[in-house]
Amino acid sequence: MSERIGFIGLGIMGRPMAGHLVDAGYAVTVWNRTRGKTAALVERGAAAADSPREMASRSDITITMVADTPDVLEVMLGSNGVLHGARPGSVVVDMSTISPVATREVARKLAERGVEMLDAPVSGGEKGAIEATLSIMVGGKPEVFERVLPVFQKLGRLIVHLGEIGAGQVTKACNQLVLSLTLLGVAEALTMARKAGVDPAKVRAALLGGFAQSRVLELHGQRMLDRNFEPGFRTRLYHKDMGIVMETGRSVGMPLLGGALAAQLYQIAMNRGLGGDRRPRGIGAGWPDASVPESHRPFLILRTFGMRPQWKDVSRTALLTIRVPESHRQRANASHARPCPVDNSEPVPARIGLLWSSAVRALEAPLPAGPPPARTTTHASRDSSRVAGR
Ligand code: NAP
Repeated sequence: MSERIGFIGLGIMGRPMAGHLVDAGYAVTVWNRTRGKTAALVERGAAAADSPREMASRSDITITMVADTPDVLEVMLGSNGVLHGARPGSVVVDMSTISPVATREVARKLAERGVEMLDAPVSGGEKGAIEATLSIMVGGKPEVFERVLPVFQKLGRLIVHLGEIGAGQVTKACNQLVLSLTLLGVAEALTMARKAGVDPAKVRAALLGGFAQSRVLELHGQRMLDRNFEPGFRTRLYHKDMGIVMETGRSVGMPLLGGALAAQLYQIAMNRGLGGDRRPRGIGAGWPDASVPESHRPFLILRTFGMRPQWKDVSRTALLTIRVPESHRQRANASHARPCPVDNSEPVPARIGLLWSSAVRALEAPLPAGPPPARTTTHASRDSSRVAGR
């Protein structure tokens, strides 16, 4: 293995990826912002650098796998960044998921110093990183792709060259767009089946044999049926990815109606404190619990989504058909207009499943029986005519 490799970013994804390169016999130098995370790889034979700049100066191929666009800009262009150490003729490969626009800007700056760049975001999650089965979406010059391909082959199974620099990030944005909207569709479909009295497990099985078949329906659909909302990917990172999707659409004048909806749902999840490594108690198992009166549940649902609802807010929510007696409405306004108490003492990783858990639970909340009160109808028709008139 003649190419010397530098690897920056030893998080959930980067740590196993760098490990595969060490195991494959490459001379690997690692750098991580939190220094302690390099120890395990150094024990396995990697060297540790003091800065991205120093690492790049002794690497033929420098790989970055950090969180977000500003982080890539920092490790690349900062005062101790890769740009200031990389030698002409070397290659920089960014495997993080970031903005295609920023990617092209970094590549332009590197090119001024005679350094080549590929963008190579991945799909396949932590499992794919550990098992070296990632899908890798690559943009950049074909001859540079060919040079780095043997390295990619140690990390992934499906490796596709998609075009010029930035093409990999555009492809990844497309991936996240399809994934987020499919998740929403599956969550709504299985919930609707349940509420309509049809077994959602049978609905899933039936759909898997037709055009609605997808990996999301297969895997996440099963998890929804099992009430398994254990996370697989941080909501914070998906929120970031939806920002990239929307920016990419805007850069080409493309309206993304579904993308905007998904982006807003992730914003709501972030506002509810679901983005990082902690989640509010009560969003997980067993909510809404039986002790909450049915008439109050719509209020709790809106509070789960970060709102402080009054009756008029609830009656405007398309998500819910409200049929609540006046006395219940008054009680609900009185008792649930307070800010929602959030208990962050429970350190549970909050990743993608939680948003869909909230959505599914919101859709599932049973409604009280009985005819709709007259005032509810008035609210609904006034609201819909106002929307239609805009
Ligand atoms: P992660 O576990 O949060 O790790 C992020 C890494 O980036 C850490 O090593 C962190 O250093 C480093 N970092 C963050 N900001 C930095 C900065 N300003 N300067 C220097 N280093 C910085 O994230 P991950 O899950 O590995 O994801 C990495 C990338 O892969 C993201 O772009 C993500 O969207 C993408 N991705 C993730 C998955 C997945 O399932 N996790 C799947 C596909 C793609 P510290 O250790 O010091 O915090």
